[in-house]
Amino acid sequence: KSMLRINNVSKIYNGSITALSEVSLDIPEGEFVSFVGPSGCGKSTIFKIIAGLSDPTSGKVEMISPDKKETVMDRNEVGFVFQHATLLPWKSVLDNVSLPLELKGVSKKERHERGKEVLEMVGLKGYEKALPRQLSGGMQMRVSIARSLIAKPKLLLMDEPFGALDEMTRQNLHYELLKIWEKTGMTVLFITHNVFESVFLSTKIAVMSARPGRITDVHEVPPYDRNE
Ligand code: ADP
Ligand code: ADP
Repeated sequence: KSMLRINNVSKIYNGSITALSEVSLDIPEGEFVSFVGPSGCGKSTIFKIIAGLSDPTSGKVEMISPDKKETVMDRNEVGFVFQHATLLPWKSVLDNVSLPLELKGVSKKERHERGKEVLEMVGLKGYEKALPRQLSGGMQMRVSIARSLIAKPKLLLMDEPFGALDEMTRQNLHYELLKIWEKTGMTVLFITHNVFESVFLSTKIAVMSARPGRITDVHEVPPYDRNE
């Protein structure tokens, strides 16, 4: 069953820069899809359009909620992770992670309970009271992932989340992310320009090229045991 249909989407900035040209892709529920391509091929642009932060010049993106059939998905069901962890430095790890629920008016008791759950999912049990600056870059990224999971998104958008991390930290986070993906059954869309990363993580790889931004190829990655 489809979760997301990208239908003939084009984006032209300022009437002159064609960031995306007639991009189409059908994404079934539960897939882990990487978007791979050089800088400027429109990866961020397609994500912004999927997220509803930017409108396509033509074409459309349809999200289908897994619960209701053929209805548009609630934007609340989308989680985001960016390259930089963007944590609030004056708030504790637990408060940072709980922030999306705080903004929705969820009670402190309930959001902290859920916050502890997602911190445990990313391997940060015991760090609830720490401040972001006391954590390493990899741990801050774990906090950022926990925050994206707190509202139980059906779709997770990740824009080069591990690009700024060293190789060892990145590998640990790859395993961690795959565990979370398997456990939650979420659909994950993942931007990277690291081909190895995309092959390791994904079920599907959308290869993009620039000028104009297009999807030139879609590869299915055969299932394999990633722990070998
Ligand atoms: P990527 O994420 O693959 O690096 P982007 O989606 O950021 O690609 O950019 C695609 C193209 O659109 C690039 O040529 C970029 O310079 C251009 N672009 C992106 N955002 C804007 C904007 N707000 N205004 C004008 N041009 C933009
Ligand atoms: P927007 O919300 O307008 O899509 P972003 O969130 O991508 O913009 O912000 C990135 C910044 O980079 C913006 O200020 C955007 O104008 C700028 N930008 C990126 N590529 C270009 C480009 N080729 N020409 C002009 N501005 C660009």
